[in-house]
Amino acid sequence: MFYAAETFYNLRIEPREDLVGFTPDTQVWEVTDLASGAGIGLLLTDYYTRPTKRGGAWMNSIIDQNHLLGQQPIVINVLNLNPPAAGEEVYLTLDEVETLFHEFGHALHGLLSAVQYPLFSGTNVPRDFVEFPSQFNEMWALHPDTITHYAKDDHGNVIPSELVEKIKAAQKFGQGFSTVEYLAASIIDLAWHYVTVEDLQKLGDNFSIPDFENQALADAGLLVDNIAPRYRTSYYQHIFAGGYSAGYYSYIWAEVLDADTVEWVNEQGGLNPAAGARLRDMILARGGSINYMDAYQEFRGRKKDITPLLERRGLV
Ligand SMILES: [Zn+2]
Repeated sequence: MFYAAETFYNLRIEPREDLVGFTPDTQVWEVTDLASGAGIGLLLTDYYTRPTKRGGAWMNSIIDQNHLLGQQPIVINVLNLNPPAAGEEVYLTLDEVETLFHEFGHALHGLLSAVQYPLFSGTNVPRDFVEFPSQFNEMWALHPDTITHYAKDDHGNVIPSELVEKIKAAQKFGQGFSTVEYLAASIIDLAWHYVTVEDLQKLGDNFSIPDFENQALADAGLLVDNIAPRYRTSYYQHIFAGGYSAGYYSYIWAEVLDADTVEWVNEQGGLNPAAGARLRDMILARGGSINYMDAYQEFRGRKKDITPLLERRGLV
């Protein structure tokens, strides 16, 4: 994971043994810009589960980079991996590997920020953009330029490329179903947030939630036999109280940018530092300081294209 970031973004990531983490197994790393030799920021990694730790995986920013106060970023990556037995190596599942790369993508967004104001630093971007750098960074997990550096058996044999191709092919399984059920839930979320008080008053006692949902799904072409929305209103807790508030669509929105960028990076030859510099300067460094669709269009040289996402999901 560090190898991919060091090569692509021209960085060095080294342990700072002299700095103590907040638990004994939390490690502190310093990230340096190789071109200028300047220190960029610090990364803390807290990867192992423990009884007092919340479940899941996430990135936090402790110090947001900003030129205003001359502050350099300090970010944390947290996972819940099982610690190794004494003297043993840690082995990760593919899901865990992808989570590791995902959270590190958020960390890079925080670390490579170069903005004036802390308000716009790193991952302080709109919800439908924030998962783009993290989902994009997952591309290195199975990429031929990276996987040969870490995916080895006990004898040091690298994972066969035919097996990697099979894993990638298997990831397309069931994508028609899961894309439709996810989009249907997103459409219901959006539909509810278009409803006005006047709309409800007009309907009065005749208002029917199932009819409302079905109309919204039919309007979007998503009223499909045998594929129910992932959530229906009566148990769709997070759209009202959980902070999504018309933002449940954001995962696939960001994934369009992610897949479109992966295609571009592969056209540039994969782990190519020139491509990394462009992505770093035009996307990651800018945080939320400019309109992100303008930034994306400038970076890509055209508007986003949905085709790479459809190809990834086997839906073309
Ligand atoms: Zn994320």
